[in-house]
Amino acid sequence: MKKNLKLIFLIFSSLQLTAQDKSDAKLIVSIVVDQMRTDYLTRFANLYEGGFKTLMEEGQVFWNAHYSHVPTYTAPGHASIYTGTDPRFHGLIANDWYVVDSGKTSYCVEDKNAMPIGTASNYAKRSPKNILSTTWTDELEWVSNRKSKIFAFSLKDRGAICAAGHLGDAAFWLDKKGFVSSSYYMKKLPKWLENFNKKNDIQSYMSGKWDYLIDKDNYPSPNTSEFERIPKGARNADFPYELEQLYNSDTTYTEAFKGTPQGNQILIDVAIEALKNEKLGIHNNPYPDVLAISFSSTDYLGHSTGIRSHEIIDMYLRLDRQLNTLFNYMNKKIGEDNFIIVLTADHGAADNPSQARIDGMNTDWIAPADLENECRKLILNAGINNEDVLNFSNEQIYIQINDNSNPVNAEIKRKIVRDAILSHPAIMEAWTKEDIQRASDPFSIMRKNGSNKLSGDVFFSLYPGSIIYSKTGTTHGSGYTYDTNVPIIFYGRKSLSSQNHIKRVNVKDIAPTLSYMFGLSLPSACNGNILPLNYN
Ligand SMILES: [Zn+2]
Repeated sequence: MKKNLKLIFLIFSSLQLTAQDKSDAKLIVSIVVDQMRTDYLTRFANLYEGGFKTLMEEGQVFWNAHYSHVPTYTAPGHASIYTGTDPRFHGLIANDWYVVDSGKTSYCVEDKNAMPIGTASNYAKRSPKNILSTTWTDELEWVSNRKSKIFAFSLKDRGAICAAGHLGDAAFWLDKKGFVSSSYYMKKLPKWLENFNKKNDIQSYMSGKWDYLIDKDNYPSPNTSEFERIPKGARNADFPYELEQLYNSDTTYTEAFKGTPQGNQILIDVAIEALKNEKLGIHNNPYPDVLAISFSSTDYLGHSTGIRSHEIIDMYLRLDRQLNTLFNYMNKKIGEDNFIIVLTADHGAADNPSQARIDGMNTDWIAPADLENECRKLILNAGINNEDVLNFSNEQIYIQINDNSNPVNAEIKRKIVRDAILSHPAIMEAWTKEDIQRASDPFSIMRKNGSNKLSGDVFFSLYPGSIIYSKTGTTHGSGYTYDTNVPIIFYGRKSLSSQNHIKRVNVKDIAPTLSYMFGLSLPSACNGNILPLNYN
């Protein structure tokens, strides 16, 4: 018996040792490409010659990775990547959600106690206080005695904040003044970033033309301007675009910029400055530093032009080259054996339904206000007062439950709403809160994974390929494959060989995999699996 125990102890301790030995990289580069569908890797594969090509050829690519929650939006996606769990546990159930008690909508990373840094804008009152579980970056800070430097950048506040977690050194996002942050992280911007903001103002990126990167005839599908939104300041939805004209027509100073490849360029530029000035990856500590980048322009552009446009193809071809600049810099300054890269996305996107209709699909779009008004009529006809229907958001309906002490009455009221909206021609399925709690099929479990006490009373889903949006462009948020399937790539020249993985995995598997590779504790509510990487 004693001998057996000793053996078990030996096996256990050797496992521990291997876990910490998987990678001795000095830097983890964690990249999220907002709205990147997996087919963006394959459809333009022969046109890639930079970063995407390197990652696909030399990395470990998971082709069948999915989210297991709805709504498939930016905040829940990013939080799941970093916490290794579902929105019901990490708390970011959507980008914003209705709060019954206040009658107001709350934004995922808002924090009235966090003061804006680098700007006077109240939009910078941000922090991770709503993220309920730890992130792998938190676990890294904790185990390294805060020696690991963790810097996160995005055009979107939520894209950076979820990555930096609660303990990361800094999250920076874009404001019209450049990259800004909040008092949650710092008292003032680092000097190098102040200088960067002065030198690299948004206007300086918005000159010249945005035109085809390569010969127009080589774009793998026909242009789709008819289904695209025309940018403000442009005559139509066709190349070339005069960047200065777009900038001058933009009263927000940032909106037009964010929908161009220049939005990705500024992130590459600031990331290189951060590597340089913070000396990320250059140290003798046992645990790595982290550079996290969430590229948001892919999402802004995807919303306006859809998934087939020449603009979106062009943006990905450019991002491929832009990533190469970053990787080359790291190879030279940090050393090609000293970093690992993880790339994924926060959600995918639907095809434009009107365009899919031409291909014979029975898909459609409905404006959010129309769907809400039509459903309100159906609910009223079923005997529930309009003022008792509190809010429509995130494919959920909040209703006034007058007597919370009587669960039977509450459920009956929810069932009336559920059955009423089911007669709407756009709605395929609907569930009450109770239906979801009892659910066992994957499609309703996604609702359960995506909901908590703050979620609505009734949930619904449209038919595959249909969206609540406008006629042009596209969106995401559903539980269908086009929204849930995103790439996961692990790349590390020293520790990882190249491999294609076809087994279905989950995006929340990234966090436990990194925990395993670097000997970190699993994030506090992590329920993902460790991915079967092939180590050298
Ligand atoms: Zn989006």
